[in-house]
Amino acid sequence: MIVVMKPGCAQQDVDHVVELIRQYGLKDHVIVGTDRTVVAAIGDKRGLDMSAIENAPMVDNMVPILKPYKVASKEVKREPSVIRLPNGATMGGKKFSVIAGPCSVEDEKQLLTTAEAVKKAGAIGLRGGAFKPRTNPYEFQGLGEAGLKLLAKAREVTGLAVCTEVMSIDQMDLVAHYADILQIGTRNMHNFNLLAAAGKTQKPVMLKRGWSAELKEFLLAAEYIMNEGNQQVILCERGIRTHEQYVRNTLPLAIIPAVKNESHLPIVIDPSQGTGHAYMVPSMCKASLAAGADGLLIEVHPDPEHAMTDGAQSITTDTFAKTMEELRRIADAVDREV
Ligand code: PEP
Ligand code: MN
Repeated sequence: MIVVMKPGCAQQDVDHVVELIRQYGLKDHVIVGTDRTVVAAIGDKRGLDMSAIENAPMVDNMVPILKPYKVASKEVKREPSVIRLPNGATMGGKKFSVIAGPCSVEDEKQLLTTAEAVKKAGAIGLRGGAFKPRTNPYEFQGLGEAGLKLLAKAREVTGLAVCTEVMSIDQMDLVAHYADILQIGTRNMHNFNLLAAAGKTQKPVMLKRGWSAELKEFLLAAEYIMNEGNQQVILCERGIRTHEQYVRNTLPLAIIPAVKNESHLPIVIDPSQGTGHAYMVPSMCKASLAAGADGLLIEVHPDPEHAMTDGAQSITTDTFAKTMEELRRIADAVDREV
């Protein structure tokens, strides 16, 4: 249920509604919009008659939330959410925000070379896995905390926001200590305990779609994070499993308008996992911007041929710089900024 407050209501009116919602044993989410404040009441409402809340001062009306996801839904918040990062950059809104870097943090030279190059080309964030979810247990698993320390150093040198994956609850405090954005990978989208743990931090979360998850399940996964009080969720489409063989994953860009129709959360595209081939990546970057995405999460390596992970889908720093130039021209045409 959404309690819509009248324009100009005071904080005490909102607090009063919050108190009433809690008395019903429900969870409250206050969303302050540009012209209206609404309070969403979330929880099992079977057998509850909440209509009395309509009598509270400055309550305009009450409307049911029809979607299964609540706080992530556009029914609760119409305006797009803009997530602010500690370096002043934003995810969502007019800016098309690009986060770029290697699949895995390998060593200091690799990371700093990449970070400086992507910063110079206009990225706002640096990606890089320190804990890597590998399908094969005998393959490189990431540098762990040593990798996180290198990411922190790269942030210090470049000012880029750091986005890195957290794979389990026992890594949460450690990764949250170093990261500006917690990445939750495709394999963990259904790990509801991990989602809830990320929701208990106050760090923005880059939530990747499970490779066989439906949009509805994706938004419900976001809801798990938001339901713990962390509203800073960035959705990331990274491709899904299909019968197709010429790509590693099939990248459904139609999810961009679909998400915009359903949710206020920003959506970014990962064209690297999304295609599996470096030569396809620039085209998908441009298509993502043209289709209205909020940004990119993209794999860039100074020497992709020798990358320890995902070399085939990593673009060079030169290709990245050239792609950013092309993105700027598209941004002009669609009234965005890169
Ligand atoms: C990655 O970003 O390198 C990664 C492992 O992503 P995904 O979880 O989408 O496979
Ligand atoms: Mn990768």
